[in-house]
Amino acid sequence: MVEQVKLAEHIIVVGAGIGGLTAALGLAKQGFTVVVLEQAPELSEVGAGLQLSPNAVKVLQAFGVADAIEPHCFTPQRACIRDHRSGRHYLDMPLGREMVKRYGAQYWHIHRADLHQELVRACQQHGVDIQLNQRVMGYRNEKDHVKVLLEKQTLRTDLLIGADGVHSQIRELMLGAQAPIFTGQVAWRGTVPIANIKGASVQPNATVWAGPHQHMVTYYLRGGEFVNFIAVEEQASWRYESWREEGDTEVLRSKFHGWHPEVTAVLDGCESTFLWALNGRPVLPTWHDDRVVLLGDACHPMLPFMAQGAAMAIEDAFVLSGTLEKYDYEYAFMKYEKLRKPRATAVQKQSRDNASLYHMHGGWQGRLKLEALGVASKYANGIIQSKLDSIYGHDVTALRL
Ligand SMILES: Cc1cc2nc3c(=O)[nH]c(=O)nc-3n(C[C@H](O)[C@H](O)[C@H](O)COP(=O)(O)OP(=O)(O)OC[C@H]3O[C@@H](n4cnc5c(N)ncnc54)[C@H](O)[C@@H]3O)c2cc1C
Repeated sequence: MVEQVKLAEHIIVVGAGIGGLTAALGLAKQGFTVVVLEQAPELSEVGAGLQLSPNAVKVLQAFGVADAIEPHCFTPQRACIRDHRSGRHYLDMPLGREMVKRYGAQYWHIHRADLHQELVRACQQHGVDIQLNQRVMGYRNEKDHVKVLLEKQTLRTDLLIGADGVHSQIRELMLGAQAPIFTGQVAWRGTVPIANIKGASVQPNATVWAGPHQHMVTYYLRGGEFVNFIAVEEQASWRYESWREEGDTEVLRSKFHGWHPEVTAVLDGCESTFLWALNGRPVLPTWHDDRVVLLGDACHPMLPFMAQGAAMAIEDAFVLSGTLEKYDYEYAFMKYEKLRKPRATAVQKQSRDNASLYHMHGGWQGRLKLEALGVASKYANGIIQSKLDSIYGHDVTALRL
């Protein structure tokens, strides 16, 4: 028997990921009554790290959660691109204090579970009702509300936000089923206790190790307790059912055999790893359908090669909650998409471009591009800085919404 539940005027967010929770927090702070429906039986995040650049940190500051998050963070000193074997620096840029000086906010590394936990806490402090084991199956726009269809009940709400990730059900209902496009890249991820890392000392930086058709990213988490790694390789196809699989650490080590000692020391210390298929989607024709709107990976999944996917979801959350506070939902959704789509699309493109740079595509030409980047960083730093300014210097909290 399907039970019909009538709710008071409010907003339902589908998905308690980083995007959904940040949106819920922003909306609750604006005075909306917010319910978050999460399909998982418990609140948790994958055991992996996240780079949070100043553009995202500014939103966390504006929403009043940055102070709670900061003690969990590691502040990297430099951003480097290094050769996979020799370790030579192609690029070496200051982060740390330089970020605060240039952009007015920190660049942080954080364990995803720590960020998630602080967002949950802040949401609960602001009265957000987070419900678990609630898988949303569908929605229906009615004249003055939306019906949200779950397995055993139907909820009624004013507005629905689909923050349900790259495999979004809400997007599928809005725009039709379309399988994600496998980008030909898979990512192995893991966090390695520092005590397991022998024979090499890992620099306190955000380091990309560039190699032919592969790259690896290393950085510290939790005050230097762990090193987080993301090891990416090109693969013609994804041969598993699921888009996330437990990986074999021996296979992983063999793939990066002969790389720089800092890389192999991290992988030698790795006890478990997961493999991700990196999927993309074409730019969507629209992000909203009457009273329903998409946010985060649901509308703009991207390769992680600019470390901006969660940052974009966090920026979305600020703009969406801000426009909904000021305008009726139709105008707010239109303005939100107008402000966010060009930005997210540009960052998607830059992330794709970085894949070819990090993987030295084109043989010697690929190497030459990395060399040129090194030269530019020494003698024409303005070119690189202006690219980074467009990402890190974008301040949604200063927008006139
Ligand atoms: C290897 C890798 C490294 C990355 N590194 C970075 C980085 O350093 N910095 C950065 O900014 N980004 C990074 N990203 C990207 C970032 O992880 C994502 O962009 C971000 O997590 C997206 O958040 P989201 O809230 O939109 O979606 P998700 O985190 O996917 O959350 C979606 C939530 O919705 C729930 N859900 C799904 N369907 C339903 C349903 N039908 N009903 C109810 N609930 C549902 C899910 O269970 C989940 O909790 C990385 C990504 C990868 C793969």
